[in-house]
This record gives sequence, structure tokens and C-alpha cells, in this order.
Amino acid sequence: MSIADNIHRLNAELAGTAARLCVVTKTHPVELLQEAYDAGARCFGENRPQEMAAKQPQLPPDVEWHLIGQLQTNKVKLLAPFVHTIQSIDSLKLLRVINKYAAANNRVINGLLQFHIAQEENKSGLTLAEAEEMLTAPEFAQLQNVRLTGVMGVATFTSDEAQLRQEFRMLHGYFDHLKDRYFAHAPAFRDISMGMSGDYKLAVAEGSTLVRVGSAIFGSRG
Ligand SMILES: *Cc1c(COP(=O)(O)O)cnc(C)c1O
Repeated sequence: MSIADNIHRLNAELAGTAARLCVVTKTHPVELLQEAYDAGARCFGENRPQEMAAKQPQLPPDVEWHLIGQLQTNKVKLLAPFVHTIQSIDSLKLLRVINKYAAANNRVINGLLQFHIAQEENKSGLTLAEAEEMLTAPEFAQLQNVRLTGVMGVATFTSDEAQLRQEFRMLHGYFDHLKDRYFAHAPAFRDISMGMSGDYKLAVAEGSTLVRVGSAIFGSRG
């Protein structure tokens, strides 16, 4: 199966669901990203700021670049001129810095609140209480150049379907709660980014709106 075949098959699978595809392109050379682009992919996910910044000028300008890995504040400046969505928002400090550099570029940058839903300790993300603390901080209301568009989570690396479903449900529950309480009048707050190559079917069944798929398209990363 070619990259194009895989993308067409995934898009066909997602048609009629709430979910769209974000192609995870980390570690892959720009030639393969161009192949994905030519097959219709427009959302690309990278997890390293420098790698994303190096690839961006080599692809067409209508690519939506999503950062899906942890972001240190000293790297925000590198991405601010072009990044579409930062899926890994985990602090008010990070939001503040994104806002500052987005403003300097006359842009609004989208962000997803990343939640810790896995049982593994090493996976990062907020608790619901931490997210609510951010959203109720007076400073949050002042940030005009960063727009929260939903939530993101990485499930446990397991084949236990009950476990995965429970984690996806938990993230969906966080989304519903935040939508209801803080974003009821913000139509842009609508994304639940969950599901990867190994678990996207379950994530879609549990209401994902954005699946992040890499190895099911490109093969395993060497
Ligand atoms: C690498 C990565 C993915 C894609 O993983 P695959 O198993 O290759 O589909 C999705 N989300 C995040 C946060 C990642 O780091």
C-alpha cells in the first residue's frame, strides 16, 4: 500500500464520522510529506519544533501545521509565524508566551488543552482541576491572540480495548464539561483530538474529531 492508498483508505473510513485526519509526519522527509499532501492531506502533525520549522517552507502554504509534542517556551518564537494549532497546551505560562509571539506576528494561534488520560506516568498533560485553574485565571481572559479550540489526549499504549475506551470517554467527558462551563458560546471550541494508528477506531467510536495517524500511513518509524 502506498502513502496515497493509506490516506484514501483512512479518509474513506472517517467519512460519515465526526473525525478528520491529521497525518503525523514526524521523522519523515519532506518528499513523503509532499506525497501525503498530493493525496489530499492538509493537517500535518510534528512533535519537534525545529523539525517542523525546517519542513514548513518546503511544503505548500495551505498546510495546517499542528504541534503534537511538548513545547518549551523558548521554542514558541520559531513556530509563531506559521503554526496552525498547538495541541500540547499544558500551562498558563505556555499560553502567555504563545499569545505574545502570535501578537508579534499579527496572528491568532489555536491551542488544544492536553490532558493526562493514560495510566502511564510518563505521558504528559493536565488534570481537569489544573485546566480549570488556567481557565479561571484573570489573565486567561486577556489573551487575545491564542484561541482554545478543544482538548487532546494520548491513551495508554495497550491493546486492552476496555481500557482505551475508558480513557477516550474520560477525555470526551472533560471536553463536555469545559464546553458547558467555559466555552458554551465559543463555537471554535469543538475538537477532541484522540486516536493514533493503533487505537483510532475506538477513539472515533468514542467521539474523536481529530485522529493523529502516523505509522498506519508511512509504516513504522525506523
Ligand atoms: C507519534 C504520535 C502520534 C502518531 O502515532 P502513530 O502510532 O505512528 O500513529 C500521535 N500522537 C502523538 C502525540 C504522537 O507523538
